[in-house]
Amino acid sequence: MGNVDLYKATYGPLLMDVITVPSPDCYLREPGESWSEYSTRQFAHMEATLAAHADEVAAVIVEPLIQCAGNMRMYDPCYLTLLRAACDRHGVHLIADEIAVGFGRTGTLFACEQAAISPDFLCLSKGLTGGYLPLSVVMTGEPVYQAFYDEYTKLNAFLHSHSYTGNPLACAAALGTLGIFAAEPIIERNRQLAQQLASSVAHLADHPHVVEIRQHGMVLAIELAKNKTTREPFDWRERRGLRIYRHALSRGALLRPIGNVLYFMPPYVVTPEEILLLAQISTEGIELATCD
Ligand SMILES: *Cc1c(COP(=O)(O)O)cnc(C)c1O
Repeated sequence: MGNVDLYKATYGPLLMDVITVPSPDCYLREPGESWSEYSTRQFAHMEATLAAHADEVAAVIVEPLIQCAGNMRMYDPCYLTLLRAACDRHGVHLIADEIAVGFGRTGTLFACEQAAISPDFLCLSKGLTGGYLPLSVVMTGEPVYQAFYDEYTKLNAFLHSHSYTGNPLACAAALGTLGIFAAEPIIERNRQLAQQLASSVAHLADHPHVVEIRQHGMVLAIELAKNKTTREPFDWRERRGLRIYRHALSRGALLRPIGNVLYFMPPYVVTPEEILLLAQISTEGIELATCD
């Protein structure tokens, strides 16, 4: 369903038809325009698409607040608030893919909370087990549950599972993780760590090849470009991110830039000292990667 060509092209003939709409990605906002102004403006595309296609659309699927594989581009929570209202108005389900952003990543337990909305379907994985074992879940509400729940003889069931559904070891890892969320003030501690992340790289804002430093909680992304003013990107074939990756590895840090976007998405046990070290290694890496 995504729109990253690298993933999509090979399987094109097998994929179902989807309608894509322009992103609320705030990197593209005009100078002086706020995140909420831009995301609100971009919502017009979604509204128009829903108005035209609501009768043939099963659901709208979004990654709340951060499009991760899409270069860690971010948008304002107001877009989700508008989207929830529009989906209700048009009678279309809303699916929130919080596989990457769920479990405290953006500053709240779930990203949707920042827009004060609930989706009809919530996709969760990664953070659910703290990354220790593979487990994913799709949550839904009572109306959907009831639509599938019926007398046995009507054979009305939601038949979708696989051999290891509900794997006990993975579930134990998930319960362990949820137990830590219940016992420790993770979200609160993340708030301080997020501030530290921001201040550790604040000096890079003036760097001639840093176009934007953006952040939602425990995800911070630094967008590099050839020209800071025109935002002309570096040629992707120059592989500047790879230079940063190699430098970081030589210094004992695993950074994995997406193209020309360097990002931090550290585990919540990261210490303030480790954040400073990451910032220092990144600064050196950016210097090395952009000096010619
Ligand atoms: C990782 C990720 C996926 C893929 O999840 P799998 O369980 O590996 O299929 C889907 N959506 C988002 C937003 C992700 O970050």
